[in-house]
Amino acid sequence: MALKFMTGNSARLIKKPQDFSQKFKYLLVLDFEATCEKEIPINKPEIIEFPCLAVNTNNWKIENSFHSYVKPKINPILSPFCTDLTGIMQETVNDEQHFPIVFHEFCNWLNDNKYLDDDNNKSAFVTCGDWDLKVMLPAQCQYDNIQLPNYLKQWINLKISFYDAKKHFPKSLRDMLRRLKLERQGTLHSGLYDAINMAKVIQELGSNYKTVFDITNKN
Ligand code: AMP
Ligand code: MG
Ligand code: MG
Repeated sequence: MALKFMTGNSARLIKKPQDFSQKFKYLLVLDFEATCEKEIPINKPEIIEFPCLAVNTNNWKIENSFHSYVKPKINPILSPFCTDLTGIMQETVNDEQHFPIVFHEFCNWLNDNKYLDDDNNKSAFVTCGDWDLKVMLPAQCQYDNIQLPNYLKQWINLKISFYDAKKHFPKSLRDMLRRLKLERQGTLHSGLYDAINMAKVIQELGSNYKTVFDITNKN
């Protein structure tokens, strides 16, 4: 970026050092957990955990969070494998709302906190891989006849941001934590802890690798 300034009658151009300022004020870190079975692709997986953390890119701190478990409708009984993988118990989802209500609460949370503006330029969603927003959310919205909002049709795949910084395409969240020498918090495949650990990766890339986060994929 160049700065223009006046000396006497002449306008000159001077170069600023490379500008690492972020495009988005907030990175909204999202990680769904869904119903699943061991080794076989489940017919119509449903979202059972819905966490979202708002990371402020001025200081890389988690400023706010949304978190809810979700009661599945099509396959209401969780498989033992699913409980084992995610740590989510049957009793936990039994007491929760179905997806349409939780999604409505989530959209209200986004609006109440003013994370969205007219051009969707204030915030961007960040996921680990493309599955959450490319596959899972569109499928869940289709089951429930919900129109997918435009602001959820683009996202940042954290693995691509990681590749930009480290020139290695990571296999998983665990791989990113290990390569950045970051200590994992909580258990893997808990939606909330996955999001917390993704926020740690974001903090490290943003503050120490000067990664500029930008949209990597659209639906
Ligand atoms: P993750 O965010 O990596 O915890 O994965 C999100 C969802 O993908 C999980 O809630 C499961 O529905 C599914 N999933 C992840 N890993 C596996 C696995 N090894 N076997 C079956 N389903 C999985
Ligand atoms: Mg995930
Ligand atoms: Mg997860």
